[in-house]
Amino acid sequence: MPRKKIIVAGSGHGGLCAAILLAREGYNVTVFEEREKSELGYDWEDCIYLPEFDFAGLRPPEKMLKPFFNSSYLNPAKTVKLTDDAVSPVRLRSVDRKDLIAFLTDEAEKAGAEFRFSEKVLSAKCSGNKVAGIVTEKGEYESDLVIDAAGMFSPVRASLPAGAGILRDLPENNVIYTYRAYYRNTGILMNSPRQTTYFFHCKRPGMDWFITLDGYIDILLGGFYPLTQGDVDEALQDFENDFSFSKNDRIRGGSFNAIPLGKAIPKFVCDGYAAIGDSASMVEPMSGSGLGKCMCAGKMLADTVISAGDYELTTERLWRFEKDYFRSFGRSSFSDYTIMSMLKELKAEDIDYFFEKGILNQSVLKSKNFKGFSAWQIINVGISLAKKPHLLSALAFAGLKLSLTEKVALSFPERYKEDEFEKWLKIYNRI
Ligand SMILES: Cc1cc2nc3c(=O)[nH]c(=O)nc-3n(C[C@H](O)[C@H](O)[C@H](O)COP(=O)(O)OP(=O)(O)OC[C@H]3O[C@@H](n4cnc5c(N)ncnc54)[C@H](O)[C@@H]3O)c2cc1C
Repeated sequence: MPRKKIIVAGSGHGGLCAAILLAREGYNVTVFEEREKSELGYDWEDCIYLPEFDFAGLRPPEKMLKPFFNSSYLNPAKTVKLTDDAVSPVRLRSVDRKDLIAFLTDEAEKAGAEFRFSEKVLSAKCSGNKVAGIVTEKGEYESDLVIDAAGMFSPVRASLPAGAGILRDLPENNVIYTYRAYYRNTGILMNSPRQTTYFFHCKRPGMDWFITLDGYIDILLGGFYPLTQGDVDEALQDFENDFSFSKNDRIRGGSFNAIPLGKAIPKFVCDGYAAIGDSASMVEPMSGSGLGKCMCAGKMLADTVISAGDYELTTERLWRFEKDYFRSFGRSSFSDYTIMSMLKELKAEDIDYFFEKGILNQSVLKSKNFKGFSAWQIINVGISLAKKPHLLSALAFAGLKLSLTEKVALSFPERYKEDEFEKWLKIYNRI
């Protein structure tokens, strides 16, 4: 019997990982990508966590991997600087995004996947609630499974029938808006840590970073609300004042983008369809692990498809992919989302208060929870926050949600049963 026909919509990282692993097993895989091959990938480097790539069996070649540096964190008033020494030089690396996507597409081609570059996917092709293929600007294609790797604004997910039970649009408040560019480094010393992360830089809700590298400077602006050119100019001016570099010396990047805020969408499979990567919001923006989570998810999806054998890829059979994802990464993704959502509600003065009173300290930034606090510290935090009841309630509310994250992740239903899923969804919606 011929192996199943798999369509990958968009050459997102998780989709490519699944494409490689399935093509190696003899599946008939076609990837539809709206851009030319040479245009793929972002114009900068990002960090990757090697064990996540090893999990998928797709570690990029050593020559592509560069060291990644730890960060210091600065409050809006720039009165407190905390240093995070958690970076593991063995496990965390920086990789050029264009090289990474070229490596993955090459591996997919070597495994036998077919690529249709410059072919934009317009929508899913549905038969009732089942996804039976895709519609592109050049025609219609049938498949046993559509892997939706077209990023956070995927037109495939947006066109699914309501009965599939999948969110068609990511919630508007589930987005971090970014600007990223490299500038020439004409002599700023590379002291450790080379990365400085600014909380609510220039009082704008969000987080920016400034990384000093050999020959260039990497600037990222991350905003909880859409960024304007005025925001970029203001931030660059402030960086110029702190580091004396020239904002006119841009050498790479310079684009506005968006990243999902985290917390994967609650249901990302239906009959004949599985969303992966940003399309399913599989990101943890605080740890920058969009790429790694995509790769692990790609391996989980490929294993699920292979385990279904010759049977139809129904919601029930694809459920294992969802379960594996939520049980492995649900806790960390829900925690990131909770912290980001709390930050979004605060003001620059509140962040200053957290830093200056030691409520936000090195161990909290490293572990993303307050577990490292001694009883005495908790009492002190309580006393400090008694004078700021709105912060106390924000923190208590976030703490309550954080205490639920593990339970919610691990209680993801073993099998797809609508009533059990509905029950789980109620708790999921609370965090
Ligand atoms: C500024 C910035 C910094 C980041 N930093 C990090 C970091 O340090 N570490 C990290 O892990 N992650 C980081 N991320 C997040 C990371 O980029 C994503 O999580 C990651 O790329 C996974 O997304 P994806 O592969 O699912 O989708 P994408 O990378 O968005 O890929 C989607 C693909 O689908 C194609 N496509 C879209 N629509 C269509 C269509 N209609 N038809 C055909 N093709 C289509 C696109 O052209 C693209 O090739 C960052 C993101 C940004 C913007």
